[in-house]
Amino acid sequence: MSLTNLELLHYLSELLKTSKIKDYCPNGLQVEGKTNIQKIVTGVTASQALIDAAIEYQADAILVHHGYFWKGEDPCLRGMKKRRLAALLAHDINLFAFHLPLDVHTEFGNNVQLAKRLSIDVGQGVDANDPFSVALRGRFKTPITHQQLVDRLRTELKTTVLSEGDPERIITTVAWCTGGGQGYIDAAADLGIDAFISGEVSEQTIHTAREMNIDFFAAGHHATERYGAKALGEHLAEKFELDVTFVDIPNPA
Ligand SMILES: [Zn+2]
Repeated sequence: MSLTNLELLHYLSELLKTSKIKDYCPNGLQVEGKTNIQKIVTGVTASQALIDAAIEYQADAILVHHGYFWKGEDPCLRGMKKRRLAALLAHDINLFAFHLPLDVHTEFGNNVQLAKRLSIDVGQGVDANDPFSVALRGRFKTPITHQQLVDRLRTELKTTVLSEGDPERIITTVAWCTGGGQGYIDAAADLGIDAFISGEVSEQTIHTAREMNIDFFAAGHHATERYGAKALGEHLAEKFELDVTFVDIPNPA
């Protein structure tokens, strides 16, 4: 089966509720390519390496979490940005990008998909009043020590982990935000949660962890955000009988 780029855009926009979520990049069809879509490459970031892979697969579309045109960036099409766009346009490849809508979705979102891999039962948002809270809280199905969580993150996400806290501490309650979500540790600490997991770390994150008695784990921006685009692609493959391939371009950050 195939569908048109605008049909796919409409479907994804509805599914991910893009009009309801404030973001600092456009969500949806960022670069228009050919009309009919049968073959899709999914990935975390629309880097040159991912575009090259899509060209090799002869993909009609790329679907990513990190696209282009971020608020505040230089809008000129030069250098790296020119080369990426030139490659997409030369091969008539559509670029679909969904940022925050793909973090917070209750089934395909990066946050929920990460919880699945770590055996966490998902509860409410860290901001309970926000239905699209980008940080979530929950409980481990079975309480786990700090060191066991480090090991689980390493094994499940195939990543390196930076952590702060007592290796022997038993962790039951947890909050998390994939990617650059370390700033939410303060809200999680205020809720008295045992541990906070994110992709990135800042200098100040460690002080909050130490002084607010909340264990902290940074497992990589890329590694924690690998699973949303992958899950969404698998859903599209099944629903529309499309040929979808997830391409992981390794990134240690
Ligand atoms: Zn991200």
